[in-house]
Amino acid sequence: MSTQFGPDYVRAIAPYQSGKPISEVAREFGLEEASIVKLASNENPLGMPESARLAMHAAMADLGRYPDANGFALKAVISAKYNVAQEWITLGNGSNDILELAAHAFVEPGQEVIFAQYSFAVYALATQAVGGKAVVIAAKEYGHDLTAMAAAITAHTRLVFIANPNNPTGTFLPAADIAAFLAQVPEHVVVVLDEAYNEYLAPELQYDSIEWVRQYPNLLVSRTLSKAFGLAGLRIGFGIAQPSITDLLNRIRQPFNVNSMAQAAAIAALNDHEFLARSATLNSAGYLQLTEVFDALGLEYVPSFGNFVLVRVGDDDGAGARVNLALLKCGVIVRPVGNYGLPQWLRVSIGLQAENATFIDALKRILA
Ligand SMILES: *Cc1c(COP(=O)(O)O)cnc(C)c1O
Repeated sequence: MSTQFGPDYVRAIAPYQSGKPISEVAREFGLEEASIVKLASNENPLGMPESARLAMHAAMADLGRYPDANGFALKAVISAKYNVAQEWITLGNGSNDILELAAHAFVEPGQEVIFAQYSFAVYALATQAVGGKAVVIAAKEYGHDLTAMAAAITAHTRLVFIANPNNPTGTFLPAADIAAFLAQVPEHVVVVLDEAYNEYLAPELQYDSIEWVRQYPNLLVSRTLSKAFGLAGLRIGFGIAQPSITDLLNRIRQPFNVNSMAQAAAIAALNDHEFLARSATLNSAGYLQLTEVFDALGLEYVPSFGNFVLVRVGDDDGAGARVNLALLKCGVIVRPVGNYGLPQWLRVSIGLQAENATFIDALKRILA
């Protein structure tokens, strides 16, 4: 028998299943890359903002040097935009990095981490990587059951992950529900409020989570530049929390975890209000375009507050995989969610109007 390396909890980790890259689908199904539509990873269909492209061009001249380990210029922009001190900010190589840093900083092997059924796959991965015990709380109408999550907190709990809006289901928790939850969480538990899709929320649903950070020393809010800001490939996100949390995250992160191109692009993107507004408008129109067809086809879907929709494509547990394969053959990449325990469903990112139309045409033919 060959040697087994590492602790059991590391060997037990199931690899993250990402959206298939366009090049891989082209090879596998003998398709032209240009004809393939990718609606699988909740990326911004507009691509990156032109402002970020220009900033990266300028930053390229300095790539021989290490990035600013403290991200001074970027933190200054975040500090002004979100009205927090720079000492409250942690930069991450994607907000995924922030989620993992939280697990590393606060969870010892055997301690408990609470998150919802059908919530972001990285919560389970980050928990397992540090030997934490995942406490998965049954979803309520595909979203978080905050009452049950609060009730599940014990003396062994160290972390709670909440995604708002949630991925892969797109559900949303109103501000009042989160406020009521935070008021119940004991001080020894850190709450990570993952707001990756915050910028897609309609103005009347927006709330000021930074105000809660001021109120609760055990709250960490995470944000990303990967979704509405259009910089998924650069890997950049950030966390906002009081120094008691932020100091620890900054001690254990890699000193140069965010590269200089990403820092420069993020500064531009955070200031690009026009791009953000255009992204939100496109997303709302695309949501209607998709859901009108789902309604017409009689397909159940979960009303979404993000840039994607979870849709039920059949009654049997093979439906998601079967329709996904048929879509791939048509050159349409979406995300099967069987690994989330949703084998009858597919998660479709909202694309450009023409991309959505390509998906709809293919779906109609497949289901006919
Ligand atoms: C996409 C996503 C993230 C983060 O992605 P990064 O690219 O690592 O910033 C975080 N949380 C949720 C719920 C997401 O869907």
